[in-house]
Parts: sequence; structure tokens; C-alpha cells
Amino acid sequence: MKPFALYIHIPFCLSKCKYCDFYSVCVRNFPKKEYFKSLINDFLFQSQKLIWKDRRISSIYFGGGTPSLIEPFFYNDFINIVKENFKLEDNIEITLEANPRTLTKEKLLGYKELGINRISLGVQSFNNEILKFLGRAHGVNDTFESIGLIKDAGFKNISLDLIYGIPSQTLNDIKHDLEIIKNLDVSHISYYSLIIEEKTAFYKLREEGKIKEVGDTLFVKMDNEISNTLKDFGFTRYEISNYSKFGFESKHNLAYWESKDFLGLGASAYSGYLKYNNNNFPTGNVRYANVRSYKDYINIINSNEIEKLYSYYEENDLKTTMFEYIMMGLRKKNGVSFKEFEKIFHKNFLALYSDVVLKLEKENLINVTKDRVCINEDKVLLSNSIIEEFL
Ligand code: SF4
Repeated sequence: MKPFALYIHIPFCLSKCKYCDFYSVCVRNFPKKEYFKSLINDFLFQSQKLIWKDRRISSIYFGGGTPSLIEPFFYNDFINIVKENFKLEDNIEITLEANPRTLTKEKLLGYKELGINRISLGVQSFNNEILKFLGRAHGVNDTFESIGLIKDAGFKNISLDLIYGIPSQTLNDIKHDLEIIKNLDVSHISYYSLIIEEKTAFYKLREEGKIKEVGDTLFVKMDNEISNTLKDFGFTRYEISNYSKFGFESKHNLAYWESKDFLGLGASAYSGYLKYNNNNFPTGNVRYANVRSYKDYINIINSNEIEKLYSYYEENDLKTTMFEYIMMGLRKKNGVSFKEFEKIFHKNFLALYSDVVLKLEKENLINVTKDRVCINEDKVLLSNSIIEEFL
């Protein structure tokens, strides 16, 4: 039985950032007790399902929202119940997402005692004006203070989230952020390009012509600056938006990019797994998401109306599942391993995709070795169109 990744969504924030389309709410009193009670009951219900039962857990990720708004006390019961019901892998990675202004020494020591061994901090920028423009609830000094507290509490696996391609951001702003990162001694950086999603404040501002995304030329310059500089600092770009020092790749995110099974708990959380026939051959995959509203989530779990829990459910055939696998796999520097592909799908990768592989290789977009295919390092920004060819 292969292990699976566990995700828990904590949908509460201090304020709503203008670019954010994750499900999160800003309420005066977060119903922590009720929400965690529902998470535990949801988990106990899921743990009885054949698909998850008796499997090990490879990573746990408390994402949000702002999980660091919640005191360790609330995570304690949840983690204990998980341990009572499942075996955890020896080298399990347990991540908690945090935002500056929400951390204290006591909280961090509490998280550490619970076995949380990785903190992912939402930094986004080291420029106060940009932070204000993004609608972040913190300033640069808060970020420095948080990083200091995380280190003092003894965390060695620290990841920072940053954003580039922000309207009005310049190449010098990026250089300034990178110069600061140089001296921070952290193990992982997620550097996301800003995507203006529907239903965000930025989307409305762009529709009104009040903001404009950075142009393509500047965007490429920013991306090159980030990847070259972080390489000089000892980071490897192991996925389109993710850079790590040796041995600090995010196990949890790798589970998604390697299409491993994942169980999501909480409002709006996604789950997914491969399905097999009686001969143990994969036939496709299943994807589903919980209802988005935290109030609905609590009410549904409390009233035991589990059939109402999912807002979305789909089953994909094998062809779609293999495409998804390739799509996620090609995001990684290591690309798709032919051996792994054959192990999972019982099919020969090159026999299935020989035409497209030849075409992309001729155009110098991908690199094919005897055991894997990956996108050429200087073509990473063309990933979407390269991946589409496999469709
Ligand atoms: S802190 Fe994160 S989850 Fe919360 S509103 Fe901002 S970007 Fe969204």
C-alpha cells in the first residue's frame, strides 16, 4: 500500500490580500474549536474509507488561509488522532503555513513540539510599498522578526513564498529582494509569478484599467534574474516556481507533482487518488473537493450529512490521468521517468508519445535521455505550451 499525502485547509486570515483566490475569510472570532472538531470528525470518517485505510502518511501540510493564526493546542488533538489511526513515515514532513505578525515564540515552540518540522512563511516582497499594494497585513520588519523567531525556535527547514510580476514592480525590486534572501540562510524558496485570477480585487482593478500586468520582456528578465541569482546562492530550481537547497525539496508538493494520492480535509480542500481494476491495473483517477464555505463544512459534518460534503467530484479515464501525470511531472526539473511511468500505468511512455517527443526534441524544447524526459532549463517559461502538445 503506497503512502499518501494529507492536506488540511485552515481558511482564516487577518485580512484579504488583493490577489488571493484561495478560500479564506476574515472574521473577528475564528470558530477554532468548532472547525477543528469538524476536521477531526471528517478525518475519522475518511480514515474508514477503503482507499485510505491501513496506508502510511508521507507528509502533512497545514495550508490556508493562515494556519499560524491558530494556537498549537488546537493542532494537538488533531495530530494525535491522525497518529492513532495511521502510521506516519519515519521521515515525515509536517509543514505549517505562517504569515508574519501571527507568530510568537510560544506558538512556534508549541508547533515544534507537535512534530511540525517545516514552516512556510508568506513573505511575498521585501518592499513595504509593494506589500501595501498587495494588501498584505504585514510590513518588512514583521517578516524579519518572524524569520528570527522561526530560527530561534530551532526550525531548520524554512521556506519563503515570494511573488514576481506584480504590477509596477521593477527589476530592481526583484534584485533588492534577492539581495536580502542571500543573507537569510533559508532552505527553500517558492517564487510565484503573479496570476490575476477572477473574483479578486486585482481582477476588478485590471478590468477598470487601474492596474496593468508587467510586460512579457520584463517578466522574462525577472524570471532569469531570480533563477540565475538563486542558483548562485546554492538553490536548485527543482520545479517551475520552486527552489531548494540540497535535500530540502518539499515532499508534500512533490507528492502532487508526482501524482501521488492525497487526502484533503477542511473547507474547499481537494482530494485525489488513482483507481484500479481487479487485476490491479490503473483505470483512471478520482478528484473531488469539499464545500467552500467553512460554515457549510461545519454544519455538514455536525449533522453527519456526508453526502453533501463534496462540491465537486469527477472520475477521469486512463488517458486523461496519464496526461495529468505528464503535465505535473514536466513541471519538475527531473521531468517524467519512463520507469516510473511504466510502473504506475503498465505502459511504455515512448511507445505512446513517440511523435510528440520527436517533434519537441527537434525543436530543442525537451531533453530526452535513456530513462527520462524533461523540459530544457532555458525553455521553462514555455512549459504550458510544451505540455499541451502531450494532450
Ligand atoms: S494571507 Fe494568504 S490565504 Fe490569506 S488572503 Fe493573503 S494570500 Fe490569501
